[in-house]
Order: sequence, then C-alpha cells, then structure tokens
Amino acid sequence: MNTELQGIGMTSQRTRMRLVERLSDEGIQRVEVLDAIANVPRHIFLDEALSHRAYEDTALPIGYQQTLSQPYVVARMTEMLLAAGATRILELGTGSGYQAAILAYLGKEVYSIERIGGLHRQARERLQRLGYRNAHLRLGDGSQGWPEAAPFDGMILTAAPGDIPAALYDQLADGGSIVAPLGRDTQMLTLITRNGDEFERREIEPVRFVPVLGGVVR
Ligand code: SAM
Repeated sequence: MNTELQGIGMTSQRTRMRLVERLSDEGIQRVEVLDAIANVPRHIFLDEALSHRAYEDTALPIGYQQTLSQPYVVARMTEMLLAAGATRILELGTGSGYQAAILAYLGKEVYSIERIGGLHRQARERLQRLGYRNAHLRLGDGSQGWPEAAPFDGMILTAAPGDIPAALYDQLADGGSIVAPLGRDTQMLTLITRNGDEFERREIEPVRFVPVLGGVVR
C-alpha cells in the first residue's frame, strides 16, 4: 500500500475509534454494537465528497432529500433489537445501506426495503462489495412488509410513519419486537413488543427521522 493510502487508512481508524468512544460515553453499552460501529466502514455509504465526515456523530445527506442516520441513533436502535433477541429482521428504509450492514455484520438475517430506486441500487452494490450475503434488499413500499420472508422476530423503521402499518403487525412473530420512530412532528423512538394479539409499547427517547412516504420511485 502506498504511504498516502496508508495515511488515509490510519486517520480513518483513529476517527472511527474516537466515534466508538463517544458512543460509549453517550450510553451505548453493548460491546457487539460498538464493535460493529468500529468495523463497518461508514465512509463507503456516503458520496466521496462527504466521506471525510463519515465518523462524526451526525446524520449526513445521501441524496434524494434523504439522510444516513446519526451513528448514535443507529447504535441505539441496534442495541434495542439485540436486547429483544431479534435474529430475522425487516428494515423499512434501506437508504444508504449502512444500518443493514451493521445488522448483517452482527450475523442477523436482514430484509431491507427502500422506495427510491437510486438508493436501493447503490446500497445493493455496497453490501455486495462488502460481502454481506445475509442482507437481502428489495425496491418497494416498506409499509407492505415482505410477506414471503415473514414472520420476522425484529423490525426496524428508519423513517417515521404516523403509526405502524397494519401489514407489519401481521408479519411480526409472536414475541417479536418493532423499533420505530413514531409521530409526525415530534417523534419518540418506540419499542413495540408482540404478545399474542397484544402489542405493548414503550417510549425510549425523542428522535428525528424523515417521514415514511408512499409509492416507489424507479
Ligand atoms: N437506514 C438508512 C441508512 O442506514 O442509511 C437511513 C434511512 S433514511 C433516514 C430513510 C429512508 O426511508 C429513505 O431512504 C427513504 O427513501 C426511505 N423510505 C421512506 N418511506 C419508505 C417506504 N414507504 N418504503 C421504503 N422506504 C421508505
């Protein structure tokens, strides 16, 4: 490797570890999650012009008026899914593919849906390049879920719906959990757990996500 590339690699490694320390200070406790943040290259999921900011704890634009979520929020939602014991996970809102990559790195079977064709294709290419064969991507309306792959024991919504779409409740296994930002203006990160026909809700903390939209943009 030439010295220039080596230099970039070392800087990236240092800034990644600084991000991990910061997330730990902010209360992310699961070692597996911190390990995933340290090892999944977030800069691959951004345009080259923004890749130098990849290890800041901030949401960043990915085009099409969408964002790659803040690392703290990715870590927090991942931690909630892990605590719930989820192994087969539906994601609504692939976006850049970074959250799916984190879950795939952790050995989960991930089914992720994106409504914007350009983002879906980019994410698919990145996840293939990184070799995450347990991440399955689809272009479509995530509000319909992925019936052929159901039931899921975990779901993660990375865009905010007014409320959880009925199809997602239908595709959630008994004992399974949904992690979602709920509400239109002010949103609360919410953990919903299924117990038979009952769905228990627990509000965790305020968050800000782009809204769930209908229709597919090819
Ligand atoms: N998880 C993403 C990542 O790691 O980069 C960030 C997701 S971004 C905050 C929200 C994404 O949800 C956008 O890419 C948006 O196009 C997508 N989205 C919104 N409504 C959707 C729907 N009905 N079905 C599928 N994707 C949707």
